[in-house]
Amino acid sequence: LAVPDFPALVADVRRIHREVRADVRGAVADYIPQLARVEADRFAISVCTVDGQRFSIGDAGVRFCLQSVSKTVNYCLTLEEHGPDTVHRHVGREPSGQGFNELTFNKAGLPHNPMINAGAIMSCALIQQGLDAADRFDFVADAWRRLAGGRAVGFNNSVYLSERTTADRNFALGYSMRERGAFPPGTDLLDTLDFYFQCCSIELTARHLAIAAASLANAGVCPLTGDRVFSAGTVRHCLSLMSSCGMYDFSGEFAFTIGLPAKSGVSGALMLVVPQLMGIAVWSPRLDAQGNSVRGIEVCRRLVDCYNVHTYDLL
Ligand code: GLN
Repeated sequence: LAVPDFPALVADVRRIHREVRADVRGAVADYIPQLARVEADRFAISVCTVDGQRFSIGDAGVRFCLQSVSKTVNYCLTLEEHGPDTVHRHVGREPSGQGFNELTFNKAGLPHNPMINAGAIMSCALIQQGLDAADRFDFVADAWRRLAGGRAVGFNNSVYLSERTTADRNFALGYSMRERGAFPPGTDLLDTLDFYFQCCSIELTARHLAIAAASLANAGVCPLTGDRVFSAGTVRHCLSLMSSCGMYDFSGEFAFTIGLPAKSGVSGALMLVVPQLMGIAVWSPRLDAQGNSVRGIEVCRRLVDCYNVHTYDLL
């Protein structure tokens, strides 16, 4: 078994959930009304090991939008379709050190990395360009479905619509990249942005996000179904960039204290991957100044305190 004493892990996750629940610091994202309306006190932790042992506590059956967590799978899909050399002609792989929607590009005029908005818009330009909009969306939703053990994924249409009408910054990022000639030939900017907003509006539960995280921990094979969704090489690249860039401008601090690949989203979602061991999803909508879930980070901190899962723990 990947985690021999699973009941002990369950007891710790229960305790961490109880303790961290009292933490009400931070504020729900309010850049669009649909996100501001979410119940701030929602809190779920879900765990899935690479051999399929699972445990969830709290609001683990309630759906939330992936938001920036969608950037991980979109990046994987670009790698599978084009390979890293082509993909990285359009997007860098260095942390930006800036906020997730900062209007900034690297020296080559490309987005700094695929884990921030500019880079994720670029991923959307690279995914299945030849398909029509509906098929491109299905393509991404299907990847999430397979990663999550075949569980159907949802879509929040009102978040999508309101995201689209209040997206000046994302439009600015898109136009700026077009001006720099950063996009692959044939890119339709408005379709690309639309596709990006749709991906952000895909909904999953913490239970299913933990299974998806476990699929990444398991080198691309879903532990529940045995379905190989991504190659091990693709997952390696994705986890590398999650480690360096997954938590926006808190990524360096997160790598130092937690030492594991993770990705957060403004919905309060956080996906944590313990390679070859397990995937963990935390959902709690109150965010800190960087846009990361306050409780999400606290849960990670406490898990790393009780288990030697920091990448450099056993050195
Ligand atoms: N939809 C959000 C945006 O584009 C996603 C950003 C995030 O989760 N940090 O601004």
